[in-house]
Amino acid sequence: MKCPSCGSSETYRKAKHSLIVNCDRCRHIWEVNQVAFPIAQFRLYKSKGAMRGNHYIDVWLCPSDKSKFSFSLRYQSSFNCIFPNPDYPEDPYLKGMFDNPQLAIEAGIKQVYQE
Ligand SMILES: [Zn+2]
Repeated sequence: MKCPSCGSSETYRKAKHSLIVNCDRCRHIWEVNQVAFPIAQFRLYKSKGAMRGNHYIDVWLCPSDKSKFSFSLRYQSSFNCIFPNPDYPEDPYLKGMFDNPQLAIEAGIKQVYQE
């Protein structure tokens, strides 16, 4: 993530779930809308159907209410790792609004089995 003040890429967060980003070069500090890593992750192996294989459910902050949680789904071959995206979710299609991360995971599991 680039600093909006000086354009430097040398930015960091003090915690991976922090919404505060710090610029190492100009010391600018700003707030963003999403955490850098999923708040929770769940891997599900689906053994039947066209979409068989590993499905990953990532839980993020809900874009419209940061006290709630949403999930996104990823589908990958079993050889890929579950390492999180270091900056923002590549998939912006966050779904749902849940009171806690576990509820978001449960809704994601249901959706994987519907596909
Ligand atoms: Zn800066």
